[in-house]
Amino acid sequence: MTVTTGTLYIVSAPSGAGKTSLVKALLDSESRIRVSVSHTTRAMRPGEVDGVNYHFVSREIFGAMVERGEFLEHAQVFDNFYGTSQTWIEQTLAEGFDLILEIDWQGAQQVRHLMPQAKSIFILPPTQEALRHRLTNRGQDSGEIIERRMRDAVSEMSHYVEYDYLVINDDFAHALDDLKAIFRANQLHAEQQAKRHAGLLGELLA
Ligand code: GDP
Ligand code: ADP
Ligand code: 5GP
Repeated sequence: MTVTTGTLYIVSAPSGAGKTSLVKALLDSESRIRVSVSHTTRAMRPGEVDGVNYHFVSREIFGAMVERGEFLEHAQVFDNFYGTSQTWIEQTLAEGFDLILEIDWQGAQQVRHLMPQAKSIFILPPTQEALRHRLTNRGQDSGEIIERRMRDAVSEMSHYVEYDYLVINDDFAHALDDLKAIFRANQLHAEQQAKRHAGLLGELLA
């Protein structure tokens, strides 16, 4: 059997741009892609499930994990800490799955440094008003938290230049198509295809 290594993708966006919804929709139709479940110190939102949306931990536990070197990357975003567990990432890529990290620009910089082969995608909202609307309509954050997120959105978005791909999430279906196209093109990359179809290539070239 051929050993295949999956591709690591970083997806970033200002809060409310639609990153979580787009990634969820992508995963619903692509069986070869997994998403990393981050650890966070932020409070659980209504409807969120521990171990599904995030691993929700206290600041003390998060700090201990940092000290034990268990995170591939970690960062403070707004007033909370977020981090990506290293072990699961390595195992999942080794099993041949493509893997998505939904992380902020600070984490993206750390991951690019450690894994330069990672592909990164930045998702933008069509307007600032639309972003505020989506944060409000999502109905999960207080007015104060929404204002905090809107204040940080411009500085998060200014990092778009560091990413390989830009997707504008205006019409959801269109943005999802764009996202799928990025994954499909990378899966068809000659190096990936050669690993996946080593048997066929062996036969064709015999
Ligand atoms: P949402 O993005 O509006 O749903 O809000 P969240 O509170 O779930 O996430 C806030 C920010 O934290 C987003 O910009 C995420 O990209 C970022 N984030 C989530 N998980 C991680 C992580 O493991 N590492 C880093 N560096 N950032 C993360
Ligand atoms: P993020 O994970 O980037 O914070 P979410 O995926 O939670 O964003 O999306 C924020 C809100 O905007 C959700 O209520 C979602 O249903 C909505 N949304 C996402 N994409 C679109 C879109 N293209 N048009 C309108 N609403 C959208
Ligand atoms: P503080 O809010 O005082 O910076 O941190 C409170 C707790 O969060 C401490 O126990 C600290 O170890 C922990 N912590 C967890 N993750 C981080 C991190 O990424 N950076 C910093 N500075 N502290 C962290």
